Amino acid sequence: MHPAIPQLVELQRVDQVIALLRADLEALPKRLKEADSKLNGARAALTSAKEAHTQALTQRKKLELDVEQWKERARKYRAQSSSVKTNEAYKALQQEIAHAEAEASKAEDQVLDQMMAVEEVERRVKHFEADLREADQTIAAERKQIEARFTEEKKKLDAAVAERTEIEQKVPEELRDLYARIAKKHPGTAMAEARGEQCRSCGMRVLPHTLQLLKLETDEEVFRCEGCGRILYSLEPIPHAQKEAANGAAQS
Ligand SMILES: [Zn+2]
Repeated sequence: MHPAIPQLVELQRVDQVIALLRADLEALPKRLKEADSKLNGARAALTSAKEAHTQALTQRKKLELDVEQWKERARKYRAQSSSVKTNEAYKALQQEIAHAEAEASKAEDQVLDQMMAVEEVERRVKHFEADLREADQTIAAERKQIEARFTEEKKKLDAAVAERTEIEQKVPEELRDLYARIAKKHPGTAMAEARGEQCRSCGMRVLPHTLQLLKLETDEEVFRCEGCGRILYSLEPIPHAQKEAANGAAQS
């Protein structure tokens, strides 16, 4: 197996970490937006309750004016009744007075109903105000949490990217390019372990002879799976690391 293969395996591990962190970082702004839209919902509910309150007050004022107008009309007719000349005119005036008083009392009942409606709307306004306060606090906490997570993940990503650069420098350029090409097709899994005479990624058979060479530290070939095209590696043993360890032991 080519001596740079362990580095490629390491590169793949870091690439997987980077992909996870990136996906997480991309999802975080969406979560912020969702939190904001919850807050906007609570704000909109309060606004419409306040509008309903204003309308209910306007309606109450209008009905109160109606009461005043009908009462005023009754007063006017009563004042006229002392100066009428005929019985018929007097009777007609009495009818007008009775009508105006009936209308005034009807409007008074409506004012009472409307006062209850206003109270109901006031309760709703208070309810939505409490809702908004609660949402405000919850979402402020959520936002803080999301932002802290963003900072933390960003730091991890920067570290992983730096680590990646470091590993990549140890890999010959043509192997780097090959890895990048395969990773484009198989993100995060350009490398496949050969074990039990099989590619562990796609299940394709790996010839015993190839497996033998993969384990051989003196071999510098790059083998690709005939099924999926991934770069094959063997973990038993890791020839390069063992060779270094052996050198180290010999020197000491
Ligand atoms: Zn395969």
